[in-house]
Amino acid sequence: MSNIPEMFGSMVFNDTVMKERLPKDTYKALRKTREQGKPLDSQVANVVANTMKDWAVEKGATHFTHWFQPMTGITAEKHDSFIYPVENGKVIMEFSGKELIKGEPDASSFPSGGLRATFEARGYTAWDPTSNAFIKDGSLCIPTAFCSYGGEALDKKTPLLRSMDAIDKQAMRILKLFGNTEAHRVITTVGPEQEYFLIDKAMYEKRKDLIYTGRTLFGAKPPKGQELEDHYFGVIKPRVSAYMKELDEELWKLGIFAKTKHNEVAPSQHELAPIFTTSNVASDQNQLTMEIMKKVATKHGLTCLLHEKPFAGINGSGKHNNWSVSTDTGVNLLEPGDSPRENAQFLLFLSAIIKAVDEHQDLLRISVASAGNDHRLGANEAPPAIVSMFIGDELSSVLKSIEDGSSYKQQDKVSMTIGSDVLPAFPKDSTDRNRTSPFAFTGNKFEFRMLGSTVSIACANIMLNTIIADALCTFADELEKADDFNAKLAEVIKNTIKDHSRIIFNGNNYSDEWVKEAEKRGLLNLRSTADALPYYISDANIALFEKYSVLTKTEVYSRYEIQLENYCKQIHIEALTMVDMVKKDIIPAACSYMKDISKEAINKKQLCADISCELEESLLKKLSNLSADLYKKTLVLEDSVVPEKEFKDVLEQAKFYRNTVFVQMEETRVVADEIESLVGEKYWPYPTYGDLLFSV
Ligand code: ADP
Ligand code: MG
Repeated sequence: MSNIPEMFGSMVFNDTVMKERLPKDTYKALRKTREQGKPLDSQVANVVANTMKDWAVEKGATHFTHWFQPMTGITAEKHDSFIYPVENGKVIMEFSGKELIKGEPDASSFPSGGLRATFEARGYTAWDPTSNAFIKDGSLCIPTAFCSYGGEALDKKTPLLRSMDAIDKQAMRILKLFGNTEAHRVITTVGPEQEYFLIDKAMYEKRKDLIYTGRTLFGAKPPKGQELEDHYFGVIKPRVSAYMKELDEELWKLGIFAKTKHNEVAPSQHELAPIFTTSNVASDQNQLTMEIMKKVATKHGLTCLLHEKPFAGINGSGKHNNWSVSTDTGVNLLEPGDSPRENAQFLLFLSAIIKAVDEHQDLLRISVASAGNDHRLGANEAPPAIVSMFIGDELSSVLKSIEDGSSYKQQDKVSMTIGSDVLPAFPKDSTDRNRTSPFAFTGNKFEFRMLGSTVSIACANIMLNTIIADALCTFADELEKADDFNAKLAEVIKNTIKDHSRIIFNGNNYSDEWVKEAEKRGLLNLRSTADALPYYISDANIALFEKYSVLTKTEVYSRYEIQLENYCKQIHIEALTMVDMVKKDIIPAACSYMKDISKEAINKKQLCADISCELEESLLKKLSNLSADLYKKTLVLEDSVVPEKEFKDVLEQAKFYRNTVFVQMEETRVVADEIESLVGEKYWPYPTYGDLLFSV
């Protein structure tokens, strides 16, 4: 392998390249834009664009594209070549500042949730200079925000950037109160751990369900699943290892800090974790990571499955969003410091997070809501749909001592006085880890564990940044008015703990007792996407998003509609796929097996009239009954989705898909899986779970 430090970021127009290639003044102006969000004038933009183009052409690029993240959840790109006609039928390679800064893709085919009337189909993309341009497949990709012509956000990046501004502003108010004069900006940081499955591509291609829906809709339980727990952190097989090696290299070239790789719990399941970075860059890079994961897999004859639940009965895939907040001077604000003042500040930030998570359980749940993720949450492999937080025993006893004056250190029997005591050291080792909590403190960051593996992390981070900004704002309002800062600080922290401690749960989130306990505590348990989404458009939530200019009322409504529409469409496609598979493949397979069994029985009888055909008869009876039942259930399912029904609104539709279609699908599947367990292997039209899970 070539020199890694040299290879790292070689396809990225990053700070080093800018410094090296841009005239000093241009570099300075661009840096100001990148760091402080100052607008870039067109003169500077022209120079930057030209330099970018020269650099990209040297690296073999022929095209450029504005690279953005519409509400489909995946990235979009439209490529234009750099060619520009000159005399004598010749061309030169051109790229202007205008082209760099703004694009005008036709927006009419992207989901807008009613935001954009079709006659006003234009949208525009605007460069996000805080995320580096990069080269992918011979195109210079420019990370951009995507808006309607009226300026409404049609993407995931715009509100994420807005939410980062909101928390910056509010956190800076707090830092000022603590006398911090060094920090100019507060940034949120994220390190997303990404889970995925790798299966043999040839097997994948034989499964319509995987091709159309990303998950298996049928499949009898294999003799071996994940029972032996022999896969987690196990030795990586050579084919997977070769894949991971190439994946790392491709990611490194794009400046993505791919760091950790290992096998996960389920057979064929793996994980990749990068080193954390700023939220918006982490979000861009996670989108790229997912794309490259799929692409590299194909080269190795593999298929990378990113669905949250590709296989029933074994663990699905999620994404852990490690989140923290730090100053531009590099101080992690969730790191308990070693002076009383730092600790008081840490406790205030912690209180803000406790308040935010408790008050906005609904928004955190919504941020991870999708048809795919509904399969995981609460299925004993991921946190339940109940949002709570883990802070560990040590920190819990500190909070308790603040709340009621009791002792926080068993040996010393002292109580905690804000602003004059130093916090004890919190153990960061894995013994203190609670792997079942949806939102766990892990020493100097929070790990939000409810995200599905396919989703963009932008949504979760928009919510986290906004709700925490709101809590910080409430605190800053109170503290700025106070005559005695320390007294007020102690009061704010104490009251917050008193009012919101119900959200803290350090026990086993997978247990049934917790579900009951959470209900007693009055915590929300929004089991499905259809249950969660209505909270999006509550007056309180709209007011919250508008207060911090993260989303307007219209934008909230549009997102609400898009998310529900996606949910319905996904289940709709799954239902149609099931109907197709049963009619075209599964019933014919069962019939063909039954035909051979009957022939066999008839042959036997012809040869010898008194021979027993008990086996054939019993199998035939069973299969015949099951097949009839399957066919009946399939027709009921088909009737629910074909032709598409009219609904009062998209929420009613989502509820129908959840409560009727989804339930019918589960019932249909049970029968088909039983048939699979009876039919001879050579008759079965698809690779089995065993084939798929142990294919690599
Ligand atoms: P573990 O899961 O064992 O805690 P790490 O501590 O290495 O593993 O962290 C897991 C993820 O959290 C990594 O992606 C890491 O970069 C990220 N992370 C670490 N510190 C921070 C931070 N301050 N902000 C955001 N993410 C972080
Ligand atoms: Mg983790």
